[in-house]
Amino acid sequence: MSNIKKTITDKKIKQKKYAEVDRSTCVACGCCVKVCPKDATSVYRGLYASVDVDKCIGCGLCSRECPASVIEILKAGVEA
Ligand code: SF4
Ligand code: SF4
Repeated sequence: MSNIKKTITDKKIKQKKYAEVDRSTCVACGCCVKVCPKDATSVYRGLYASVDVDKCIGCGLCSRECPASVIEILKAGVEA
């Protein structure tokens, strides 16, 4: 029992920032793909952009460049 408690308290939670695309209003222009330094964005079948959250560092470049303003930078708690 005490071992289980220790394992739980040893886990550290840190904040991770990441980009999220509103697919319903994305115009699939590809600007976010061109500016992403981590190759985290892609345009799915010419329909909408999606973000690989594992690669994304939340820098916000895509959000600033998006002509349709459909990318939001969010924060989530993840295990460190
Ligand atoms: S820059 Fe904006 S509108 Fe263009 S593909 Fe990316 S999310 Fe969609
Ligand atoms: S926030 Fe930065 S790393 Fe993440 S998808 Fe946008 S440009 Fe790429």
